[in-house]
Amino acid sequence: MRDPRYDILFEPVQIGPLTAKNRFYQVPHCNGGGYRDPSAAAAMRGIKAEGGWGVIFTEQCEMHHTSEITPFIELRLWEDKDIPQLRRMSERMKEHGALAGIQLAYSGINGPNLYTKEVPLAPTALPIRTFTNDPVQARALSKSDIRDLRRWFVTATKRSRAAGFDLICLYGAHGFGIFQHFLSRATNQRSDEYGGSLENRARFSQEVIADIREAVGDSMAITLRVSLDESIGALGFSNAELRDYIEMNRNLPDLWDLAQGTWEDCSGPSRFKDEAAQEQLVRGIRELTDQPVVGVGRFTSPDVMVRMVKSGTLDFIGCARPSIADPFLPKKVEKGRIEDIRECIGCNICITGDMTMSISRCTQNPTFMEEWRKGWHPERMNPKGDSSNVLVVGSGPAGLEAAWALCRRGYDVAIAEARKVIGGRVTRERALPGLSAWGRVVDYREYQLGQRANVEIYRQSELDAAAILEFGFQNICIATGSTWRRDGVARQHVVPMPIAPGAQVFTPDDLMEGRLPKGRVVIFDDDHYYMGGVLAELLTKTGAQVTLITPAPFVSDWTRNTLEQGAIHARLVEAGVEIVLNRGVTAIWADHVVTNCVYTGRTRPMEMDSVVVVAARLGNDQLYQDLVGREADWAEAGIRSVRLIGDANAPGPIAWATYAGHRYARELDAPETGDAPSFRREITELAADWPG
Ligand code: ADP
Ligand code: SF4
Repeated sequence: MRDPRYDILFEPVQIGPLTAKNRFYQVPHCNGGGYRDPSAAAAMRGIKAEGGWGVIFTEQCEMHHTSEITPFIELRLWEDKDIPQLRRMSERMKEHGALAGIQLAYSGINGPNLYTKEVPLAPTALPIRTFTNDPVQARALSKSDIRDLRRWFVTATKRSRAAGFDLICLYGAHGFGIFQHFLSRATNQRSDEYGGSLENRARFSQEVIADIREAVGDSMAITLRVSLDESIGALGFSNAELRDYIEMNRNLPDLWDLAQGTWEDCSGPSRFKDEAAQEQLVRGIRELTDQPVVGVGRFTSPDVMVRMVKSGTLDFIGCARPSIADPFLPKKVEKGRIEDIRECIGCNICITGDMTMSISRCTQNPTFMEEWRKGWHPERMNPKGDSSNVLVVGSGPAGLEAAWALCRRGYDVAIAEARKVIGGRVTRERALPGLSAWGRVVDYREYQLGQRANVEIYRQSELDAAAILEFGFQNICIATGSTWRRDGVARQHVVPMPIAPGAQVFTPDDLMEGRLPKGRVVIFDDDHYYMGGVLAELLTKTGAQVTLITPAPFVSDWTRNTLEQGAIHARLVEAGVEIVLNRGVTAIWADHVVTNCVYTGRTRPMEMDSVVVVAARLGNDQLYQDLVGREADWAEAGIRSVRLIGDANAPGPIAWATYAGHRYARELDAPETGDAPSFRREITELAADWPG
């Protein structure tokens, strides 16, 4: 049972008129599903309720149609007809005694209104401040607009209550919410009673909260999510100003929700931010108020959580990503199962679901957002099918996840791994600069597999088709990973690029195996995720003179979706890497490369000693092909199925591999789904008044 030193995390805490059953507080987080996938999102929140969270919030909910952030998919509460979908979510949140919260967002200077075509409204007329630099400006709110906006907040709160929510969170952090826009001198340059002094900039939040209190009384609690430090220069809302603001407005909301000023800072990946990274910005704020305080910091360790409470820093432990990686985190602490907590690795793949308007994934928890779509539960597997055993070849993230999920279904599982150490690519990549936390993907599964009697791991066991046919396993899962290409094939070159004999060409695999180029090194990054940037960082540490060339307009272009692109660029500049954007490499000679401008095609030579080609990867599918070639022998060998999964099937990020492993395990022995999708989906209800 629970270790008494964690008892403090299970104390009930008052939030205004309500009481949360414990201190585990799932702060609002996006999921890429939002209004498009309401049942998927509701089921995901319901799993958190089951996992023991005391407070559970929605993602940001656009509270009025005059402010929205299309193309990003969040929630909407514009009319009464939006209530039923939100009620579905609140009901799930409350099933196990959690308080259900809704985050009301008015995006102001952050909402381009591409869908509603309304003119955006903001404290001051300025260009819209989106990631995408939309060519749209907001007009300044007039006094009568402000009166309207106050009324809209009251209406949205009443609708939230009708939808079953207990708490509302007024959004004023991450640069996304109007409360921050009013508080910051960068976005509020008004000369009336809403601008200028901090007292004036605070007026809007005071008025909205007073209006809401008058409207809903004690039937709901009001939380205010404010920016800890806007960190956008001298005009930004600073930590010192925040402290003044809270001191001046001690008991304005029923709870202060403290989050960083930009989303990149708040949800920093483990490559750049440690657990509890916001501690210094939060410390001492609790003494300025009588109300409870929640803060975040990718908390996965219950000891750190206890320290945050005992030191008087926080009353509630706010978690977004840790609650995604393990929705059962509170339950596991409660039951004394600390080692079973599936810790977030801080890769920010979950955020890419929002950034790409698709649907979120989690590297550690492949069931995230599949709770309804596929009926996957993070803690419970479907019962075993007809067959009884599986040989998993390869112990990378795909093989390990497959093995762990299979043994929980009740299959006897053997894992064969060619190398001495299990973990595949994760074992190699965790040694790269900044990626050590990613090792949790392996550590967690290795520990879990060690607790099971029905799994054997065979290390240093490179298998071929003949050996597999001899073993007599019924199901063969090939998860043999991938190899970085040396021939430059990726996006610029769809066939091998010209490489002169004698040219010193390295791949990421070479570097991870310890074969390092020296002297003047060109990294040609046509992969565009983290690898090129990480290797540049690695090589500067070994004394190489590094130039990173990429055809993309950004270093590690795709990491804009993981919110770390800016930090990567800054780190490389500081490490002395020369960055060449919008240029490709057309040919590699022994002593130089030829680069080309992606717009004009103009070429120029660049001298170097060696080149690291970060191109595509090739799936290691030879073993699978060999087995398929011997299909005639399967029946005699007792083989019922052979499947290729993970990077060996189609290389992708680690999250794709854990998903593939989990899916393989879930679907083993299941009837074929035919040509239909393998997941449930919702479609928009057609208008009843057609043709209208
Ligand atoms: P994924 O990301 O798909 O899980 P990885 O590259 O991380 O793939 O892992 C694949 C693992 O499979 C590596 O550890 C590799 O050593 C192992 N492997 C590859 N071929 C064989 C084989 N023939 N027999 C046993 N293990 C193999
Ligand atoms: Fe954590 Fe990565 Fe999962 Fe997001 S995707 S919750 S950062 S492990």
